Amino acid sequence: MTDGGSGPFLSYGRQSISDEDIEAVVAVLRGDWLTQGPTVDAFEKELATLTGATHAVACSNGTTGLHIAAAALDLQPKDAVIVPSITFLATANAVRYVGAEVVFADVNPDTALMEPKHLEDALARAKALGLRPRAVFPVHLAGHPADVRDAARAAGLMVVEDACHALGTKMRRGDGEVTVGSGSGVDMTVFSFHPVKTIATGEGGAVTTSDDELGDRLRRFRSHGMVREPQLFRNRDEAFSPDGKPNPWYYEMPDIGFNYRLTDLQSALGLSQLKRIDRFIERREEIVDLYDRSLVPLSPYIKPLSRSKASGSRVGWHLYVGLFDFERLGLGRADVMAALREKNIGSQVHYVPVHWQPYYVERYGKLDLPGAAAYYRRCLSLPLYPGLQDTDVQRVVDALAGLVKRAA
Ligand SMILES: *Cc1c(COP(=O)(O)O)cnc(C)c1O
Repeated sequence: MTDGGSGPFLSYGRQSISDEDIEAVVAVLRGDWLTQGPTVDAFEKELATLTGATHAVACSNGTTGLHIAAAALDLQPKDAVIVPSITFLATANAVRYVGAEVVFADVNPDTALMEPKHLEDALARAKALGLRPRAVFPVHLAGHPADVRDAARAAGLMVVEDACHALGTKMRRGDGEVTVGSGSGVDMTVFSFHPVKTIATGEGGAVTTSDDELGDRLRRFRSHGMVREPQLFRNRDEAFSPDGKPNPWYYEMPDIGFNYRLTDLQSALGLSQLKRIDRFIERREEIVDLYDRSLVPLSPYIKPLSRSKASGSRVGWHLYVGLFDFERLGLGRADVMAALREKNIGSQVHYVPVHWQPYYVERYGKLDLPGAAAYYRRCLSLPLYPGLQDTDVQRVVDALAGLVKRAA
């Protein structure tokens, strides 16, 4: 990447790795366990403490976390899961991995979040199609909480939050607040530890739940569907010796599962990163504040996302999404991205509406979700990560101000 006199390249997101992180991984390399072992257990314990959930089940990435969560719901063909159209592909794909059907919900164009009215509209469509609505996968886009719990419960739906953006976010509930992933009012919550997310393990993810049975099912689906608990064995002649003792080698597979385990190497990095999560989130919040204030003079050309009413005292911001009026700017989105790129500034679109993907159009036909379309037409994510300096943010804002000045 050339410097072009504007400073180093700023990507839209990136990891922060310290010497301590590196030493933690090297220490595992010198030990006995490279695959799932005691460091995975320790990482899961810390994740449970951080979120307040009873169970944290680490897995190989956020996508496999969504898959084992969908598997744990025991969905059947003709079951429907409501998924907002503004999310990463994986949220919807997990529903298809287990043979159930996705019914896409619209979002608020100013927050990109699904709201109760969007959920209710999707439920009506699911029923009109002859599907059985079973679950909803709300997405905390950008780290910002989407709260459809009450509407979901009223409709008898299971709730699996896609919190891949929202580790550490607190959600307002009544007079108090809950930490995303605590299991309060939801069945399961899925996190990702991809390098652009709040903490990094390389690839990595976890599902939290406060339901013991779901915790068991998640662990089982993570590891081939195998069980080793004697009380669960069905082939009793193979499982037990003539004197009734469980045979020490024996295992069974009541349901088919996967190898979606995280490694001790990755968990060592995750554990070390978790020690700095407060600093990571505080810095992300500071940068978001700085962007918000700096963009005020650039309105109405460029505006921040609107705040979700469900935001609690802490938002673990993952993305900084600007809402651009490209027409007023007299520039296409590709032109804006190129102009930023020329100044060594990365940007990205989160996301192309999933209901527009050819696979889903082929399966469900064309849908009109105006909120998702309106959000998509305006969104562009700007650099946000803890290693970003205030002067870097200023560089981004100056570049944007230059574009606005040309248009005004
Ligand atoms: C990152 C992400 C995923 C998938 O996580 P991976 O760890 O990359 O598999 C799923 N949903 C959302 C909203 C994400 O941002």
